Amino acid sequence: MHLQGAPFLKAENAGLYEPAGSKSMGIAAERSTRQNQELIAEIPYFQEWRTAANEIKDYSIGNLDKLLVEFEKNITARGATVHWAETAEEANRIVLQIAQEHNVETVVKAKSMVSEEMELNHAFASAGIRALETDLGEYLVQLAGQRPTHIVTPALHLSAEDVGRLFAEKLGEPYTAEHRALTAIARRHLREEFIKADMGMSGCNFGIADTGTFVVVENEGNAGLSTATPPLHVALMGIEKVIPSIHYLPQFLNILARSGTGQKLTTYTHLFHGATPGRELHIVIIDNGRTSVLADPKARMSLFCIRCGACLNACPVYRRVGGWAYGWVYPGPIGSVIVPHMVGLEQAGKLPFASSLCGACNEVCPVKIDIPHQLVHLRHRAVNERSPMNLWTERLLWQAWSWMFRGLRRYKLAMAVVKMGIRIAPFLPWHPDKLGAWTRGRELPEIPPQGSFRRWWRKTGVNLKPAGKNTP
Ligand code: SF4
Repeated sequence: MHLQGAPFLKAENAGLYEPAGSKSMGIAAERSTRQNQELIAEIPYFQEWRTAANEIKDYSIGNLDKLLVEFEKNITARGATVHWAETAEEANRIVLQIAQEHNVETVVKAKSMVSEEMELNHAFASAGIRALETDLGEYLVQLAGQRPTHIVTPALHLSAEDVGRLFAEKLGEPYTAEHRALTAIARRHLREEFIKADMGMSGCNFGIADTGTFVVVENEGNAGLSTATPPLHVALMGIEKVIPSIHYLPQFLNILARSGTGQKLTTYTHLFHGATPGRELHIVIIDNGRTSVLADPKARMSLFCIRCGACLNACPVYRRVGGWAYGWVYPGPIGSVIVPHMVGLEQAGKLPFASSLCGACNEVCPVKIDIPHQLVHLRHRAVNERSPMNLWTERLLWQAWSWMFRGLRRYKLAMAVVKMGIRIAPFLPWHPDKLGAWTRGRELPEIPPQGSFRRWWRKTGVNLKPAGKNTP
């Protein structure tokens, strides 16, 4: 897994941050939020759509057991094969087994966050199978040997000049930074791959229980080509993707495109109802930690996520540090919520603290996930359970703080100690740097000549005694 002890914002992990692209990435994310909001503002009932989507998801997540079985029954009846995987490792095993049974040498993949989550490309590589990403952004980061930086726009950090240099180096193409020319190069190379591939893979945006249909939305046509050209299609679907009825699909299509890419509708919406004659269709339904989210009533709302990416674009922290800093496949506010559930607080206990809790994510989320409260809930767990945040020094500090604020005399005593500490600090043999990152970026406050606020207030002659019961 890419998550290495939740490296968020550690200076020694500077290599995890996007290169010079960070600044332009922040600008692009901000622009995307503005454009999406302008489009949304044209719809007077968008808030009602959000509420409806939230309620449908609430019902779906509360009835996953029935809906998933109904989905399986209906799509199996039309020739598809459904597989169930509890973990990422099990899902990888299933996909590899299908590929090996069909003597697959090359796989074309349309973007699937679940396959990133499973690290499927590594599994393919270790089995000697060539897997090629075909979503343009994913194709670029794969060519560059990088990881996606955003869940919807994975190459947000690369400029046209970067892409031109990449194509020159990896594909032997003449350098250009002209957008149309770059797109044409990618198209030419990818078309050959679609034709040669033995197996196509896709993710799944929605699984529909009552019809046994799954839906893939995209803009580039690569998902259509990946799933229709090779004779074998394997789709990956997280258990939270299921919704009860096809009647609810327009609801989600309306909000997903507007919040994700600022479109009224994505260019392509594929509905797969089963295997087509002469072709095989396999669907791998994956848990990988989602049922543990389901078991936590305060966290289950995070399963409503439709991966539109709007909360990433709106987040001031994400805009500043980019996706790699989070250290895992799901970055941004929603990543800080779901990753700790998937890999545990031991590994990802710092992620919920990677937020200013400004609430921007909550305002833009089309399914109304209350991300700030989800983060606070995880912070609470992180400091109370065994996790990297559970440092005895920090606990001791907060206990002392709590003791100090429980009485006026204690408070006065503590303030006297603090003042003395500030006065003698410059004469100490060790530098405050030794206290860690907190003191490295801050200076000690100066004690004003008039003394404490209380002393100054007393001097002004105002009575500081607590007001009586009847005093307004
Ligand atoms: S949490 Fe909401 S805004 Fe963020 S990706 Fe999921 S659906 Fe989109």
